[in-house]
Amino acid sequence: MTILSRFNRTTADWQRLDAAHHLEPFTDYKELHAEGVRVVTRAEGVWIEDSEGQRILDGMAGLWCVNVGYGRRELVEAATAQMTQLPYYNTFFKSTHMPAVELARVLADITPEGLNHAFFNSSGSEANDTVCRMIWHYWDCMGKPWRKTIISRTNGYHGSTVAATNLGGMRMMHKQNRVWPEFQHIEQPYWYHLGHDMEPEAFALKAAGWLEEKILEVGPDNVAAFIAEPIQGAGGVIVPPPGYWAEIQRICHKYGVLLVADEVICGFGRTGNWFGSDTFGIAPDLMPMAKGMTSGYIPLSAVMVHDRVAEVLIDKGGEFFHGFTYSGHPVACAVALENIRILNDEGIVQQVGSDTGPYFEQSLKALADHPLVGEVRAVGLVGAVELVEDKARHLLFGDPGSSHKMGRVGFMCRDHAVKDCGLMVRAVRDAMIFSPPLVITRAEIDDMMSRFKQALDLTAADLGR
Ligand code: PMP
Repeated sequence: MTILSRFNRTTADWQRLDAAHHLEPFTDYKELHAEGVRVVTRAEGVWIEDSEGQRILDGMAGLWCVNVGYGRRELVEAATAQMTQLPYYNTFFKSTHMPAVELARVLADITPEGLNHAFFNSSGSEANDTVCRMIWHYWDCMGKPWRKTIISRTNGYHGSTVAATNLGGMRMMHKQNRVWPEFQHIEQPYWYHLGHDMEPEAFALKAAGWLEEKILEVGPDNVAAFIAEPIQGAGGVIVPPPGYWAEIQRICHKYGVLLVADEVICGFGRTGNWFGSDTFGIAPDLMPMAKGMTSGYIPLSAVMVHDRVAEVLIDKGGEFFHGFTYSGHPVACAVALENIRILNDEGIVQQVGSDTGPYFEQSLKALADHPLVGEVRAVGLVGAVELVEDKARHLLFGDPGSSHKMGRVGFMCRDHAVKDCGLMVRAVRDAMIFSPPLVITRAEIDDMMSRFKQALDLTAADLGR
């Protein structure tokens, strides 16, 4: 057997080997093998480069995670220093280490009031498994072990483990999994699809009211928690209409239901504040986070736990039979600390809130006149452009009377963007999604927009518009 540490193969070689041996996530293998996978080789700033030398502006920050951009030496150095001093030790069995403690302290500092306790994991999915186990354990400690139902939303995404798939509201994932009765789902606050005949504020109350209806249907004393993303990301960047979150919180308080804000995408500056909860005035009981915590340079996630929950677990919980080999991995925590220092010291979060975020929103909204564009949604540096069949009649692709299947035009546009325009965007159904690195400059936003406009025009031409 030969194992190479330096590679000298052609793109075709890599594609052949990849098809022979690698099963990628969320992939239709037959389709991918027919087309050939893209081999990404390096990245710098907001740019990625593939094995054919094509430079692509990364409008998605990897998978919504490379918040400080690619190529930051400080993160490499933080990892190297920590690997040299203590590459690994567990945090089980009455041990801890400095990077984990220091990171827990810093997270308590930057998260909303009262979220003072961190449980570490390696991925967003694991964080949400921890959320489920912690919530159920909490209600056991409260003497109400029957409070098991966790309510979440259609098209919410909370990860891919068995529990996280249940929590999420993705129909295709449910079909390949199964949905346990402990997990219940309500409709999403998707104004453009579900409420455009109403004022957004009125729709917000109606959409939040679906939570109350579900709580009453399940029985208030059976409901453990409600979980949602401040802005629903992978479901298509669904920005809740004004008043939605306030009403959701009122309902949770009324019935004593724990509130979980999944900050895996919205956290660490994406919406122009440290957390989406700051942007929308949410005061959660638990807050899972991942991605931007290390800017994706190394896997790490956390669940921040409010004093009112943690104190019960500490006082009455006994041993919490839960944890991972890599909970609080020292190298990952050291990278997270340095990443948070960069976000803070370079004023990146503030810049998204006051400068590049509003500029991005304004640039994206300028596309609203395009014949294919039905709605534009943006907060901070996350946004979506919804492509539609007929904007005047509010006809979506896939609706009765539309000439295209749902999602087909979105994929056409994405393929044009990546292959013909050098821009990485994502298509969720027919919504084109943006989530660039938070260090993107105004000039780079202009560049991103002109590439996207070109992709839109190519798509419109394909459709004969
Ligand atoms: N929650 C949210 C809101 C997410 O967007 C994601 C990932 N896209 C997850 C959880 C799962 O994170 P991971 O892929 O790290 O397991």
